[in-house]
Amino acid sequence: MKGTFPINKIKGTETPFYFYNTGLLRETLETAKKEAGKFGYFIHYAMKANANPRLLSIIREHGFGADCVSGGEVLAALKAGFPASKVVFAGVGKADWEINAALDNDIFCFNIESVPELEVINELAAAKNKVASIAIRVNPNVDAHTHHYITTGLQENKFGINLCDLDMVIDLAIALPNIKLVGLHFHIGSQITDMTPFASLSMRINEIQTKLGERKIRLEHINVGGGLGIDYDHPNRQPIPDFKSYFETFHKHLNLYEGQTFHCELGRSLVAQCGSLISKVLYIKQGTAKQFAILDAGMTDLIRPALYQAYHKIENISSDEPLEKYDVVGPICESSDCFEKEADLNKAHRGDYFALRSAGAYGEIMASQYNLRKLPGSFLSEDFI
Ligand SMILES: *Cc1c(COP(=O)(O)O)cnc(C)c1O
Repeated sequence: MKGTFPINKIKGTETPFYFYNTGLLRETLETAKKEAGKFGYFIHYAMKANANPRLLSIIREHGFGADCVSGGEVLAALKAGFPASKVVFAGVGKADWEINAALDNDIFCFNIESVPELEVINELAAAKNKVASIAIRVNPNVDAHTHHYITTGLQENKFGINLCDLDMVIDLAIALPNIKLVGLHFHIGSQITDMTPFASLSMRINEIQTKLGERKIRLEHINVGGGLGIDYDHPNRQPIPDFKSYFETFHKHLNLYEGQTFHCELGRSLVAQCGSLISKVLYIKQGTAKQFAILDAGMTDLIRPALYQAYHKIENISSDEPLEKYDVVGPICESSDCFEKEADLNKAHRGDYFALRSAGAYGEIMASQYNLRKLPGSFLSEDFI
């Protein structure tokens, strides 16, 4: 859908840059909020997907909380106006300064991932005469059937507390004076488009809650993490992910106590489809039996293809000429700096603009200056009106 890009206005803007369609972002946020609201569920936006301050402020305006995985993210969330009472802080390796920053700001909840971390939070909270609210991140041993680099809920992963240790960790959390145990946290992986793993997760949570119930332990909240996937192959077919099925799956399978609240941490599904990386063709190079379109964007601007063999649909938004096959590559001195092999694209020329679609999540935020390159710019659709 080339009409999405204001090609005449883009011309003259320094490339590469991220382009965010805020109309689609708002529609996506409203849909997610409406579907979650049907069941009284609460969404924390997983900031690691994209922490562009202008996007953060739109997301915050819609009433979402923030899910942070570093002290930097906690501070950025507060700066963007997310109330501390809606900020959760996860991560296997929280440094003391990060824990202290979160304690000083009285965030909603730490999602803790190990016994030593629990002990350190207790100590640091005691030094401030505070009680830290924590949820235990449980490794539910549920297979998300996604790429192994983005699977997190299996016993072999570094994340969370294994089920066999859960009783011990709960006892410890209850015994520590500057800790208040308020919930259980889960996150099984990312880019999950089949709802079955979410149903399996729900049933695993039910088993855990039943066992805790026998010990008269009832927690205030359940946090199921994030992971809802998007359609990278067809960004125009279903630009808004299937939030309805996602929340209905939990509603159908997850048993909550009266008054127990449901939290989730969606990242990719909220921001991926609204973003594209816009790049210019530097050269068309004829190889033996193939031709390369060499872009001014590379893996330093969008690392997902090099990092996890991810696919981003590429469009030549400058040309309507017949399709030809191109290997679309970047300028970085790494063989993995390739966006797509044998891409079917409208015949390309030096100076054409290419859009790499579905790049709003884990795109701009992962950009680096490797090769001493400039970081990509970023614009919202309203900047080009
Ligand atoms: C990455 C992450 C998320 C967000 O995952 P998405 O797949 O982008 O929805 C949520 N919670 C935790 C703990 C994470 O690490």
